Order: sequence, then C-alpha cells, then structure tokens
Amino acid sequence: MNCLWCDTTIIPEVSWKTIIRLSKPKHLCSSCAGQLTILKGKRCRKCSRLSDEDVCPDCKWWAYHTSQEDPLICNYAVFSYNDTMQEIVSRWKYRGDYCLGKAFQDDYRRAFEQKFSFLPKETVVVPIPLSDERMDERGFNQSRMLADFLPLKTAEILSRRHSEKQSKRTRRQRVSAANPFHMIENINNPVILADDIYTTGTTLRHAAAVLKKYGCPAVYALTLIRG
Ligand SMILES: [Zn+2]
Ligand SMILES: [Zn+2]
Repeated sequence: MNCLWCDTTIIPEVSWKTIIRLSKPKHLCSSCAGQLTILKGKRCRKCSRLSDEDVCPDCKWWAYHTSQEDPLICNYAVFSYNDTMQEIVSRWKYRGDYCLGKAFQDDYRRAFEQKFSFLPKETVVVPIPLSDERMDERGFNQSRMLADFLPLKTAEILSRRHSEKQSKRTRRQRVSAANPFHMIENINNPVILADDIYTTGTTLRHAAAVLKKYGCPAVYALTLIRG
C-alpha cells in the first residue's frame, strides 16, 4: 500500500493487531499523517473553534447579528486548517482526486463515534450538496464522500442553487446572502450535516434552517476541518 499523498510505500508495523487483522491498512504514511493537525484542547461548544470560552466570539457575533434561534445545535470539526491540509483538500476537491478523500475516512468516522454516540439510530446524514454547475466541474461531491464514511443512512434531500463563490464575499455579505438551499424531500429524523470545512458557519446554518423549517427536529454537523 502506498501513501495517497506522497506515494511512498507504507510499511505496516507488525504487531499482534496486524497479525489477527485488527488494524486496518493506513492511507497516509506516518510522515504525511504527522503534518495534519487533529484539533485538540478547549474549543467552542457551538463551532469547534479553539477557545477558552464556552461559546467563542464568532458564535456570539452570529447570535447577536441574526437575532434568531440558531438552527444548528453544534458543529464538531476533526482537523485544523494548515498548509498541508489545504494542499490535500485542493487536490481532492478541485483537481478530482477522488481516492485521496479516503485518507480522512478513519479520523472522520472516529470523531463521529466519539462525539455523536448519543444520537438515536434513526439519525440520517445529509451531505451539503453542490450546485449542478459545480458538480459538473468537479465530478463528485466531497461532502457525499464524507457522509458515506459514517455508519448511518445517507439522504441527499437538499439541493443548492448556483451562487458566486463564498470566499469572494465579506462576512456580512455571506450572512445576509439569500439561502441557496431547498428541500427535495421532507424529513422528520434528526440530521447530522456532513461537510469538508466550517469557515463562517453560514453554509451549514443555511442548510440547517431549511431542514428545520420543513420539520427536522434537530440538526448537528460534523466537518473535516475548522477553518
Ligand atoms: Zn506520505
Ligand atoms: Zn464558536
């Protein structure tokens, strides 16, 4: 097995676990895996930003400026954003290297098992959709891939209108932008949204607001990265 990022051969360490096949093959070599940073330490309970406060200034800003109930109960993120992560994500998402996403499978699933074990079995995972235009450009939806790593039913019940790139807008413009999502099918189960990155939280909150409006009782999110 070769490292999905640098292509060097991964030499499995031999232990009783590998002999009785308890440990799974790794997708990244230890050097590449070591360049990714798993988020550790005290974090905001709403958005996973590292913070000494229970709720970080970003989330307080949100509550203050929208003056409505937050449709998203919380987002849990697995990794922080750094240069290596940015390069990997860019090759995975924008240059169509679908298989590279497997590098995240174990950590994403483990975070789900550790942080969301309280969710009832009927919870469904809803990937943040791409617009048709983006889907045509990229060929696959990275959020759908993340959703499929989780041991829950995946339901693609949201669709997304095409809009200009979020990154070209200021924060205030993002927050006040029209909601690009609409429901394809209503749902009465709790939902966990799957997405690759939480930056301002606007995308996830727009998706959560639509789900709640059409009867979804509770919306959580699990993102690979906290930007
Ligand atoms: Zn490597
Ligand atoms: Zn926060």
